[in-house]
Amino acid sequence: MAAFCRGRCRWKRSSCIQFIRRNLTGPFDYDLVVIGGGSGGLACSKEAAQLGQKVAVLDYVEPSVKGTKWGIGGTCVNVGCIPKKLMHQAALLGTALKDAQKYGWQVPGPISHDWRTMAEAVQNHIRSLNWGHRVQLQDKKVTYLNLKGSLVDEHTVKGLTKTGKETTLTAKNIVIATGGRPKYPTHIPGAMEHGITSDDIFWLEESPGKTLVVGASYVALECAGFLTGLGLDTTVMVRSVPLRGFDQQMAGLVTDYMEDYGTKFCLRTVPKRVAKLSSGELQVTWVDQQTGQDQQDTFDSVLWAIGRAPETKTLNLENVGIKLNKDSGKILVGADESTSVSNIYAFGDIGEGRPELTPTAIKAGKLLARRLSGQTSELMNYDNVATTVFTPLEYGCVGLSEEEAEIRHGKDFIEVYHAFYKPLEFTVAERNASSCYIKVVCERGGDQRILGLHFTGPNAGEVIQGFAMGFRCGATLSHLKETVGIHPTCAEEITKVNITKRSGLDATVTGC
Ligand SMILES: Cc1cc2nc3c(=O)[nH]c(=O)nc-3n(C[C@H](O)[C@H](O)[C@H](O)COP(=O)(O)OP(=O)(O)OC[C@H]3O[C@@H](n4cnc5c(N)ncnc54)[C@H](O)[C@@H]3O)c2cc1C
Repeated sequence: MAAFCRGRCRWKRSSCIQFIRRNLTGPFDYDLVVIGGGSGGLACSKEAAQLGQKVAVLDYVEPSVKGTKWGIGGTCVNVGCIPKKLMHQAALLGTALKDAQKYGWQVPGPISHDWRTMAEAVQNHIRSLNWGHRVQLQDKKVTYLNLKGSLVDEHTVKGLTKTGKETTLTAKNIVIATGGRPKYPTHIPGAMEHGITSDDIFWLEESPGKTLVVGASYVALECAGFLTGLGLDTTVMVRSVPLRGFDQQMAGLVTDYMEDYGTKFCLRTVPKRVAKLSSGELQVTWVDQQTGQDQQDTFDSVLWAIGRAPETKTLNLENVGIKLNKDSGKILVGADESTSVSNIYAFGDIGEGRPELTPTAIKAGKLLARRLSGQTSELMNYDNVATTVFTPLEYGCVGLSEEEAEIRHGKDFIEVYHAFYKPLEFTVAERNASSCYIKVVCERGGDQRILGLHFTGPNAGEVIQGFAMGFRCGATLSHLKETVGIHPTCAEEITKVNITKRSGLDATVTGC
């Protein structure tokens, strides 16, 4: 009985559902075709299918310049958040092993790290996630196609296999969630030939050895951080300022800690040339912007982390009428993720002005699917998204930086509460806590609404995630002070801030 539709129909249930779906999709093969099976595309396609839409998702990974390839799931799963956090954890464990000896653990012999073991374990975990995504798509009745998609017209997508075989799909709505890829400085001789990017580092079978990381983005600092923590000689080359866009006082504390941790910084420098020596080492020449002099050193690896470029070039967007930002190459999108073609949507890293973060891509994708299925009109709220930089001393924040709060509200109309605190776990381990800092940026008048919350310290992501909800609910300084802390934690220190920057008083927390 269960195999037949409601027991009365002469059709098998599966044929019946297909018939209904074919009628609902009208003249199209699918209700929705999603190009890009990363964080956003997968979330959107699964949600839409659950809401009864007939959905196909195309995901295709163009190998990196070095030839690195990976499976479904996009940047986050394969070459971003997940392997990065696991390698960060590997580095933290090395630090914990050193701390452990102060806590009485007897560690026989010097501590060393085996890259191969770590890389294999991380890569196995990624493969399990790739598999999990494929199973979920199947369970949720999303058609997964390992094809490189491009637009033919506003309802037609062309998919190519890696051997060039072509498939055409039509859809009522099309979503583009093709993300971005790391940039290479194509004007620097040897940069592409000899360098790697974040698309490769997590898939290296052998240790990268002595590494030069070029760039000052969070990706650059995070990679440099875990490489240092794993015991590798690591230098970061920075042209201007680290962590641009983040609160610059906090960025300074992050890099101060990294320097103390062992990462070398080459500030105000611009790479000029990379050459491979007969020894196999890479000789890097750079210009010191202050003296104008050329300098050189040799490295085993050069990692370019100078930003990411959107994956828009091969999608045939402009011929279909989709407008791009000419400078960034990203797709211009409205608040509802719509593009300049009414039934084509774009979000995630490909969308102009969108935060390049996994949770925003996932949430935006789910909400778009719900809107397309007529379930809601709710739009994604991109304001005040919390985030964390997973450097050796983590930095988590939500809301405005002090600089941005000054610009938006005026220096005289904000009050900054701050504290230098010492995590309890650092005391016995005798670790340097001079960069452990809390900054709460508030409106100066009225209820002193919190505009920005910044924290450097252990588990910053976990700490800020909790406070982010309070922030979303419009927390004020008195809400913060009324909150009873959990003792003895680092997060507790946030509830105790009472020194304003304006007062000039010493903000060092004393006692427990
Ligand atoms: C090193 C690193 C660390 C990061 N760490 C974090 C972090 O800790 N937290 C966080 O929130 N974010 C982090 N991010 C950012 C996060 O990974 C991205 O913001 C997120 O993956 C964007 O999702 P998306 O769906 O827009 O694109 P993606 O996840 O990049 O997915 C796009 C997919 O589309 C595919 N594709 C491209 N073109 C085509 C085509 N023509 N046809 C078919 N498929 C195509 C791509 O191969 C890819 O699989 C990190 C990024 C990097 C690089």
